[in-house]
Amino acid sequence: MLDLLVKSGTVVSPDASIVADVAIEGERIAAVTAPGLFSEARRVIDAGGKYVIPGGIDPHVHFNMPWGPAMMQGWDRGTTAAACGGTTTIIDFAWVQGGTSALATIEKRLSEPQGKAAIDYSLHACLMGPISPATIGEIKQFVREGISSIKIYMTYDWAVDDGGLYATMQAAEQSGGVVEVHAENHYVCEWMKNEYIRRGRNDGRLVAETRPAWVEEEAICRATFLSERTGCPLYIVHMSSQRGVQAVYEARNRYLPVFGETCPQYLFFTNEDVTQRDDGLRYVNFPPLKGKEDREGLWKGIVKGTMSTIGTDDATYPSEGREKIGRTLDSLQAGFSGVEVRIPLLYSEGVAKGKFSINRLVEITSANAAKIFGLYPRKGVVAVGSDADIVVIDPNFKRTIRLENLHGWQDYTVYEGWDLQGFPVVTISRGNVVSENGQYVGKQGHGIFIPRSSGGVFSTGIH
Ligand code: MN
Repeated sequence: MLDLLVKSGTVVSPDASIVADVAIEGERIAAVTAPGLFSEARRVIDAGGKYVIPGGIDPHVHFNMPWGPAMMQGWDRGTTAAACGGTTTIIDFAWVQGGTSALATIEKRLSEPQGKAAIDYSLHACLMGPISPATIGEIKQFVREGISSIKIYMTYDWAVDDGGLYATMQAAEQSGGVVEVHAENHYVCEWMKNEYIRRGRNDGRLVAETRPAWVEEEAICRATFLSERTGCPLYIVHMSSQRGVQAVYEARNRYLPVFGETCPQYLFFTNEDVTQRDDGLRYVNFPPLKGKEDREGLWKGIVKGTMSTIGTDDATYPSEGREKIGRTLDSLQAGFSGVEVRIPLLYSEGVAKGKFSINRLVEITSANAAKIFGLYPRKGVVAVGSDADIVVIDPNFKRTIRLENLHGWQDYTVYEGWDLQGFPVVTISRGNVVSENGQYVGKQGHGIFIPRSSGGVFSTGIH
């Protein structure tokens, strides 16, 4: 007998929506059939009138950081929140300090979520500057072991210089890996910040003036140039500006493997939320939120296919820290939680409001990340043989976002009171129902590490 049968739903892929039954045996999808072929299963979920989509993949979360001001989610609550919002795989980061062993750091970091994670997980290798030839020499091995993406910061104190970025891309290309960049010009940002501080304008709310859109554009163009020279696929995390979208458009128009990610915060807020609201410091992000034209440019990029994914950059700090400690340009804390509301918000604001199709939702929340980061076709698709990571979206389910209904560690949400039309009412992770109607019904420790494959980016047709 089947373990689980998801009946009569509209099964969605990037290319099609078809009414079908999804049969699950153990942890995998055993069949996707015309409705009615199977009738018996240990459990039957009626998805009539609902969408059946591949479990969400959030390729950019920080559930805890090994240094600095505490990020509070933790693996348990972060992954629980993800499950309740229709996400079944997250990718966090192994932070490799300059001059230390990447392999040892990855191994240690991989032990942390064991027994805690509610859903599956992987890690990006985040190589921090100054980068050494010894670290470059480790890339081939950790890519082969399933950590097939490398994050580089082009800004902050742990920025990697252009030589290090070049060497990383060269080694990643030879290994079949992808390089991701936080694209902002470090030296320009530092100069501008210090200039503001020298003039006595050290108010944290001025952050967008010290990190303008063109520092993102410049860094994207520079990374794209190095990507083209080395042949290494490039993924730009948390893009925030129209200038950035244009740079990615131009690269992709030349058929370069350049992929853009943005986050809900850049689609739903602008810098005015930082400068005009009483609690504006709670809205600070790096890169900073920008103008209305940037927000509109990112939406267009998502709708038209210039942008490939939406991650969250989920990073939670106590609000007290945001508002009392981080008031100045040189003490800012940035980021907030988004992992649980990502798919609900994008369904409600994107699909229900007619901005993009349910098929496009599947691409930007799951399929594209699976393809770019080597999870496809194990994840990112509802198909025979794939992991049974499935989300049922009820387009008629209405919900209002309230802090008390969220499952992550956070003491505020910038989305408080937002009304949602449509909601992920069932989340299935490797054949196990882990969330129903926004409530967690899974079991801690169910989530496992998913080693990712390499070298797949060019052949999978990513829009
Ligand atoms: Mn981040």
